Amino acid sequence: MTKQNNYITSNKSSWCPGCSNFSIRAALIRAFSELNLKPHEISMVFDIGCAGNSCVLYNVYGFHGLHGRTVPLAVGAKLANNKLTVIGIAGDGGAYGEGLNHLVEAARSDYNITLIVSNNKLYSLTTGQASPTSERGTKTKSTPEGVNKTGLNPLLIALSAGAGFVARGYADEVEHLSGIFKKAINHKGFSLIDVLQPCITLDKKNTREWYQQRIYQLDDKWPVEDRNKAIIKVQEWGDKIPIGIFF
Ligand code: SF4
Repeated sequence: MTKQNNYITSNKSSWCPGCSNFSIRAALIRAFSELNLKPHEISMVFDIGCAGNSCVLYNVYGFHGLHGRTVPLAVGAKLANNKLTVIGIAGDGGAYGEGLNHLVEAARSDYNITLIVSNNKLYSLTTGQASPTSERGTKTKSTPEGVNKTGLNPLLIALSAGAGFVARGYADEVEHLSGIFKKAINHKGFSLIDVLQPCITLDKKNTREWYQQRIYQLDDKWPVEDRNKAIIKVQEWGDKIPIGIFF
């Protein structure tokens, strides 16, 4: 097992103190370590956003690209050197807004990359505008009277586009999230992990407490080979929110 310290740099983070992006990073380096991947065997690509700012925190090959372009950069890295484990990191704005068609094409094409999305339902780096996953009625800086559109369900989109590995995690359940990451990295094809990531600075609705009252883990008997059941399950949202590997 490679020590976790080998995957991190000494660079200072730009994240707010206590940001749940720290937990996602902890889960990912734990997965790298337990899979015994060497830093030189990993390539990570990032776009613009709070999540993308973790580019400087990982001691692996890295590329910090334009907003919404995580997926094509990841595909390019994989095509250039298919021995690399390629991980894309994006936020909900980049992955499901500007980059949505890239995600659909990568899922259809089944490129062997792992896409991890920090989904806080906001454009947080630009101080809290509505994103594609903001729910209808959500009041934000850019929607003072409430979002007047339906929030996207990215897992439903990925499943209908043919993605072979579709999961949802919760940022602060590090052990559970790390287990999902390990299986996604080992999956031979496109994998999407949508990570519920409360923005503790800007979001007064989807807070840690709000999520902790609602999330529950899929049990071991969940039929991960049944796409139709996954399509129904990923739409459960409200008093109860499932996390785990749906498909
Ligand atoms: Fe994290 Fe939100 Fe701060 Fe961005 S604005 S670093 S998502 S807490």
